[in-house]
Amino acid sequence: MALQITESCVNCWACVDVCPNDAIYQPDRDEAPHFLISADKCTECLGDHADPQCAAICPIEMAIVNELGEFLNPPGSLTGIPIEKLKEFGLWREAA
Ligand code: SF4
Ligand code: SF4
Repeated sequence: MALQITESCVNCWACVDVCPNDAIYQPDRDEAPHFLISADKCTECLGDHADPQCAAICPIEMAIVNELGEFLNPPGSLTGIPIEKLKEFGLWREAA
């Protein structure tokens, strides 16, 4: 049970310090161009917080997914842009 960071991450560092398990790290560029979450350390914040803190502070939509590939901040959830408009402009992306 762990969350994952996607290629939408802009490496803003916001999530790093809020993780109660120090699970978020910046890998070597060969491993990934963005931050990653250690599956061994991530507990999805269970027992520490009501919601995953990385997703709560992340300012970027589609940057964090759960084990089912579902976005914790899906398209439009932070910007308020209606899904119809995102689809119209080709900015909609289904979960993995
Ligand atoms: S869900 Fe919680 S434990 Fe997992 S990486 Fe995010 S902040 Fe850390
Ligand atoms: S808060 Fe979001 S965009 Fe910023 S480093 Fe973490 S996952 Fe990436």
